[in-house]
Amino acid sequence: MTTIAANLQDVRERLGAACRAAGRSPDAVQLLAVSKTFGPEAVAQAFAAGQRAFGENYIQEAVEKIHALRHLGLEWHCIGPIQGNKTRLVAQNFDWVHTVDRLKTAQRLSDQRPASLTPLQVCIQVNIDGGANKSGVAPREALALALQVAALPRLRLRGLMCIPEPAANFATAMAVHAQTRTLFDHLNTNGLSLDTLSLGMSADLEAAVSAGSTMVRVGTAIFGKR
Ligand SMILES: *Cc1c(COP(=O)(O)O)cnc(C)c1O
Repeated sequence: MTTIAANLQDVRERLGAACRAAGRSPDAVQLLAVSKTFGPEAVAQAFAAGQRAFGENYIQEAVEKIHALRHLGLEWHCIGPIQGNKTRLVAQNFDWVHTVDRLKTAQRLSDQRPASLTPLQVCIQVNIDGGANKSGVAPREALALALQVAALPRLRLRGLMCIPEPAANFATAMAVHAQTRTLFDHLNTNGLSLDTLSLGMSADLEAAVSAGSTMVRVGTAIFGKR
């Protein structure tokens, strides 16, 4: 078994245990393998071990991998910041985007999504802990943005995504993730029907699952240190 295959097995076990501990069904949480900085061979190894969904941060690097691995039929998620001049590449190459935090980006993605592809699946990134230099919409502006994004024709709004500051322990991580969960519920009681909460990484996936995450984004624990 390759290291990546063994790591994937460990992460799946962690996820399963976290779901059981939270009283959630083991298939309630999807695993997104974050392959940024690793080459197509590493992605192909994870694919051989049963992984289908991959997350990438750097658009140009991602597009090269997406093209190289076209034959595998993988699902690609953009989880990095999107500059204005990169929206077309994102709209043309990815299945999901987790990092929409302004209407202008969403509009461009919708305008540029090729008619031959299904709508782009989108999460709005929320700056839940108010970090000054962080991406993400402020929580109080999330509902207004979500309603506008949900109305764009070539996007399908699925949920919220958050990257909180690293927490010192489980309880702190859980409390921050729970704030995003509360915002998610608030949006769903105000006219939206979101099904995706993109929360949790290698270090805090248990806390995220316990707060209601439906998709964890795991890089280091699968592919190793970057
Ligand atoms: C890199 C990255 C991850 C994965 O982080 P790990 O700590 O390596 O699991 C998850 N989400 C985002 C947005 C990232 O940039």
